[in-house]
Formats: sequence, C-alpha cells, structure tokens
Amino acid sequence: MIFTDSHAHLTLPAFDADREEVIHRAREAGLRHLCTVGSLSRDADAARALAEKHGFIRFIAGLHPHDAKLWDESTLPRLETLASHPRLLAVGEIGLDYHYDFSPRERQREVFREQIGAARRLGLPVVIHTREAHEDTLRILDEEKGEEAGGVFHCFSGNAEMARYAVERGYRISFSGSVTFKNAGDLREIAARVPPALLLTETDAPFLSPHPHRGRRNEPLRVMEVVTKLAEIQGTTPDAMGEQTTRNFEAAFPRLRSA
Ligand SMILES: [Zn+2]
Ligand SMILES: [Zn+2]
Repeated sequence: MIFTDSHAHLTLPAFDADREEVIHRAREAGLRHLCTVGSLSRDADAARALAEKHGFIRFIAGLHPHDAKLWDESTLPRLETLASHPRLLAVGEIGLDYHYDFSPRERQREVFREQIGAARRLGLPVVIHTREAHEDTLRILDEEKGEEAGGVFHCFSGNAEMARYAVERGYRISFSGSVTFKNAGDLREIAARVPPALLLTETDAPFLSPHPHRGRRNEPLRVMEVVTKLAEIQGTTPDAMGEQTTRNFEAAFPRLRSA
C-alpha cells in the first residue's frame, strides 16, 4: 500500500524526541509523500530544513489564524522569501478559527485576506484551515478570488454546502482522522460524495489521532487508517484509495507537477 500525508506538523516539540524514527516508520510502511506545515511565527525554517533533508517531504508556510495577532511588517517578506524555495508547495495553513478565538476575528480576516492575495501574486495554492467560521471563510475566498490560487480545505470539518462550494471550484478536500470518529456520521456522508479526484488524506499530526487512538499523539503512519476509512466510505479498496490520493496530491500542487 502507498499513501500520502498531505498535512502534518512534524517540527513541533511533540516530535523532538523521535522525529526521525516517526518518519522512518511511515516511510517503511509505504508513505510516498509528506507535507509538513511551518508557521511563520514559529517553525517555518525548521519545516524548510526538514523538507531539505528528506526527498519525499515538502513544506508549506503561512500564518495560522491562531497567530493572526502576530502579523507584522516582517511577516509578508518572510513568506515571500520562503515562497521561492523549490520545496515549498503552498501558502498555509491560513484561514479562520472561531472555535478557539486565539486572535481577534477581525484580525484573522485581515490576515487571511493578506495571505490569499500573496498566494495569488506568487502563483501558489492555499491550504485552508476553517473552524466554526464557514460563512466568513467562503465569503472571503470569493472576495479575494481564492479559486485563482486554488488549493486545499484541510482537515475538512465543514457541512455539505462547504463541500459543494469546494468541489465546484476545484479545491481539494483533505480528510483526517476525524473521519474515523464514532460520532462523525455526517462527515462520512459528505466524504462519500466528494469526487475521488479531489480527495486528499492527512493526519494533522501530532493532533487528531484516528479512532481508536484518539487523545494520543498522532503520527504520519496513521494516515493509513484515514485511507482505509475513506476507501470503505467510497466503496473501494485501501490500496486503490492510497494510490488515488497519492496521485491527487501530486496533481494538487504545481511544483510537484513540474518536478
Ligand atoms: Zn488546521
Ligand atoms: Zn494543521
């Protein structure tokens, strides 16, 4: 079986003790690609360094909505510098998180707009994080012409309307371990109707361990469980789903297509 983890935070301290072992375990089991997420306020340089070290690892960089309050005049130049790196795939994760409200909502919206604009100028897709902010997320994507950048709704937790919005505009929809949770019947119904060519898989490690590991540290190896669940939902085999989502990942990012 081959599989791809389109979104993990491998440079967070949760992996400091055994990062290389974690990567090795996943690779041995069939991991074809991994994209690690760097925050412009924290670990973007570490994410870049990890992507330089391993041929199958790429990275993205952006300012997470939690950290929107930290956006200052140095942030955009940092993003632009990182964006020229050949192993950077997209601007992200960016978006809105009204669940935690770690940054004021108005600030989150401004910083989301800034980064969609930057992605369009740079010719890069976006990786979108949205939680309990569906209406504002879609409105801002419309107003900032997000579909010109294209990209991914990561760790999809939206409703059918959001899925339809994404599919109509050609965004990819990435599912995480949350699709395996016992109470996620609605999410599985939505996943069943996403066109196979737009599906991606991720762990969001160290967060969101799939059932039955929920609550423990997640790691890229466990994307297999997301692949297996998606295969069951879509009525195909895990092998076919792993292959499909790996090809989808390769098609989702211009820098992988030309590589
Ligand atoms: Zn996220
Ligand atoms: Zn994330």
